[in-house]
Formats: sequence, C-alpha cells, structure tokens
Amino acid sequence: MVKIYDLIIIGGGSAGFNAARVAHDLGKRVAIVDGSRPLGGLCILRGCMPSKTLLYMADVLHLAQKGGTFGLKIPSATADMKAIHERKKKIIADFADYREKQLSSNKWDLYRSQAKFVNDHTLELDNGKQLSAEHILIATGSRIATPPIPGLAETPFWTSDDVLDLDFIPKSVIVLGGGFVACELAQFLRRIGSRVILIQRSPHILRDHSPEAGAVVQQAFRDEGIELYTDTKLEKIMGNEKGVSVRFASSGKMITKRARHLFNALGREPDTTGLNLAAAGVKISPTGRVATNRFQQTNIPHIYAAGDVSGPYDIVHLAIAQGELAARHAFGVKGIKPVDNSLILNVVFTDPQLATIGPLEKQLREKGTAYLSASYPFNDHGKSILMDANYGYVKVLAEPKRGRILGAEIVGKDAGELIHCFSGPLAMRATVFDLLRAPWYHPTLAEIITYPLEEIADQIKKR
Ligand SMILES: Cc1cc2nc3c(=O)[nH]c(=O)nc-3n(C[C@H](O)[C@H](O)[C@H](O)COP(=O)(O)OP(=O)(O)OC[C@H]3O[C@@H](n4cnc5c(N)ncnc54)[C@H](O)[C@@H]3O)c2cc1C
Repeated sequence: MVKIYDLIIIGGGSAGFNAARVAHDLGKRVAIVDGSRPLGGLCILRGCMPSKTLLYMADVLHLAQKGGTFGLKIPSATADMKAIHERKKKIIADFADYREKQLSSNKWDLYRSQAKFVNDHTLELDNGKQLSAEHILIATGSRIATPPIPGLAETPFWTSDDVLDLDFIPKSVIVLGGGFVACELAQFLRRIGSRVILIQRSPHILRDHSPEAGAVVQQAFRDEGIELYTDTKLEKIMGNEKGVSVRFASSGKMITKRARHLFNALGREPDTTGLNLAAAGVKISPTGRVATNRFQQTNIPHIYAAGDVSGPYDIVHLAIAQGELAARHAFGVKGIKPVDNSLILNVVFTDPQLATIGPLEKQLREKGTAYLSASYPFNDHGKSILMDANYGYVKVLAEPKRGRILGAEIVGKDAGELIHCFSGPLAMRATVFDLLRAPWYHPTLAEIITYPLEEIADQIKKR
C-alpha cells in the first residue's frame, strides 16, 4: 500500500531537517527519507563541525608555537594526532547522536533508505516500498567533484572526508584547489607539521572573494611556509599509494611537484544521482543544480529543492533558511518573503579569517550601484597590535546619500565573529550614522569598525 503524506523530504541534512521541523509545526504529516549511515548531514559529519574542531585546535597550536612573540617559554608544542582525532570523533559523535534523536522523533516518519522518483508525487525506496505526497522537497546536498584532469581519476587521492579523519601527521601533501575547503584544510595540515603545496588555477586563492582579501590570506599562507602556486594549469597527475607527482604550467614554466599524498579539493557538485528526476520532470540548471524560483519551487510547482542541491551557495544558514521557506510556501503561510541573498554571510575559517556580508565591491560595480567605501588595517589598531594579529583590514560599503550600509568585508583575526557586527544593522537597513551612535568598548577588535564608518560619515557630510 502506498503511504500518503503532506510532505516528503529527501535528505535529512540542514535543509531537510529544518523543513521537517517547520512543516510539523504547521500540523502537517511529514516523512524524511535519508540513506546515509550515520545520519546527520554534511555539516555535522564531514563539513563545518569536524573542520572547525580541527581548525580551532590548529589555531591554539599555532599560538603556542609562537609563544616567544608574547614572551612565553613554551618548550615545544606539537600535534598529537591520535588524541586530536579521538577528540574530534567524540565531539562529532555527540552532535550526530543528538541529530539522530531529533530525526527519529515521533514528529514525522523516518525512512533509512535512498529515494528515487517514480512520478511527480511518488518515491520508491530501496526495498521497493512506495511513498506519495502532496509536496516533495529535494534536499540531497552535494558530493565531491572529480574534474576531468589527466591522471586524476587514476591516482589515489584524499578528499576533505579523508583529511578530516586523519589520525597521523602526513609528511607532505599536494592540495589541488583554492576554495574555502582547500584553504582551511591546507593551513590545518601545515600547522600540524606537514609540508603543503597548494596549486590553484585562478590568479588568487578564494576566488569567490576580492583579490585584495585573497592576497592577505595568500601572504599569511606563504609566511607560514605553504608553497603556493596560483594562475596555474594542471597538465598531468601521476602516482600510486607511495606518492604522487603533479605537473602544471605556471608563469610560462612547466613545474613538477612531488608529495606523499594528494588532496583533491577541487570542489563539490549538487547530488542528484539516483533521484531519477526525469520521472518527475524536474529540471536541472546549466550549473547542475536543481533549478528553483525564489520560493524554492522547481519547475514542477509541488516539488521544492533547498540547500546545496539548489544553491546558489553551499552555506548552512542558507540551506536552513531555504528549507524553512520551502515548507512555509508549500503550505500557504501568508506574508513570507524569499531568502534575501543580499544578506548572505560568508566566512572562511583560515587564519586570518575572511568574512563578508552583502555584495562585494565588484558586484556593486557590475550592477552600476553607486557606493562609498572605506577601510582600515588591523596593523594600525591597538587591540590587534597587542594580540600580534596584524594581517588584514575591515572594509565597509555604504550607499552615498544616507550612508545605508550595503556590505562589509573583513580579513583578520576573528573576522567570522566580527562580521556579525554588520548582520543585524544590514537586516535593519541601518546607516553608518546609526552604527556610530552605538557604543564600542575599548580596547576590542570590534572597535576597529568605527574607523571606516567615520570615514564614510565624513565623506557624506562633505558632499
Ligand atoms: C569540509 C567542509 C567544511 C564546511 N564548512 C562550512 C562552514 O564552516 N560553514 C557553512 O556554512 N558551510 C560549510 N560547509 C558547507 C555545508 O556543510 C553545506 O552547505 C550544508 O551542510 C548543506 O546542507 P544540505 O542540507 O543541503 O545537505 P546535506 O547536509 O549534505 O544533506 C543531504 C542529505 O541527503 C541525503 N541523500 C542524498 N541523496 C539521497 C537520496 N537519493 N535518497 C535519500 N537521501 C539522500 C544524504 O545522505 C544527506 O544526509 C562545509 C562543507 C565542507 C565539505
């Protein structure tokens, strides 16, 4: 017998779980189908939480290693990878257990299976059982991409899953890619003591960010001894279990680098494999994402998609907001608005961290939006100087007439925390003058923000 629901959600990660919570609160009959073991989704099991556990450890280690800067005698600070691995496993197991309990609650039915479409209202599980629903949400996330680079598929390589699960210090690693996962984990590897060679195709790492911000992180990486090659073209990858070699073109020269391990951090792709979307008539965009409108509806109006599978960014708070929005829209909640992509926060947890909110300067220029900008460096700010945290700057972008804040970019110590000084004000459409009325405690890292705010306020007053 086919079981009938108001909403079936494929995937119990950040998007799926939060959609289920909202739909249940609206009094709907909900089912979640997820085939992974253990349950928990990417963020908890192999994404944000394990990576940030390791990166925080690497920050502590780095501070201990540079104790001399602060007049401290710390004879030796090294990474005990077995202990680090155990700690990470325990933290993640606790988070995953908690999420598994939430997913297994009696608020909805949970099916531990893969799901595929039979038609636009019906799904089939691994055991042949069929489930039907008025609405279906695709929240299947993303998977590691292996681009067609000569030799890559034939060469043994690590993915982020493997790096996050290391219980030893690798002697040397070649990192392919310069996105946030590549950069965060390259620095982690370097800080625990590996030789790290990072090869990036674009002219600067973190290419989704400004060249100026990328250049700061690049400098910090080089200062820590990461061998960094940008603007490259990969020619050939070769290797076996004993070691790998990567040949690439850089600045008109052919270079070959060898290392014990290869880390493929060339990106992820939306996971639509096995869903049989054609049976439901759901369309894919040219980028491979499930195409949706601003309310997360696909071209089949009762089928929704949210999270990494629909994009446009692989970010947890976006996945959550999209999942919640899809559930509210499906059940006709009044007064809901699409997710406001101009408020998207983005944090890269390198050291220095890189964080942005709102559009980048380049995007404002492309759109022809008038703006004022001002920035201030951390190496001229009291609190960061005493912390020996001198890399980077804070930049503020504001609308020229009233000074409404449009966006901000912070590269520096704790940028991921500091950027939240702007998230409330941006959501409330505050101006630089509003923020300057707020108190800023001295001496804090946060008070650096007042300098670009004041500069923009002066620019407006002089106009
Ligand atoms: C190393 C790393 C670090 C990251 N760090 C951060 C960070 O610091 N901050 C941040 O915001 N984001 C970070 N991200 C990105 C973030 O993890 C993702 O954006 C987010 O977890 C996506 O959630 P989701 O619900 O879309 O997908 P997922 O959490 O991946 O959930 C998808 C679920 O669908 C299930 N599934 C797939 N296909 C089927 C099927 N056919 N049938 C049934 N079930 C299926 C899967 O088993 C999975 O449980 C990181 C990612 C990585 C890889």
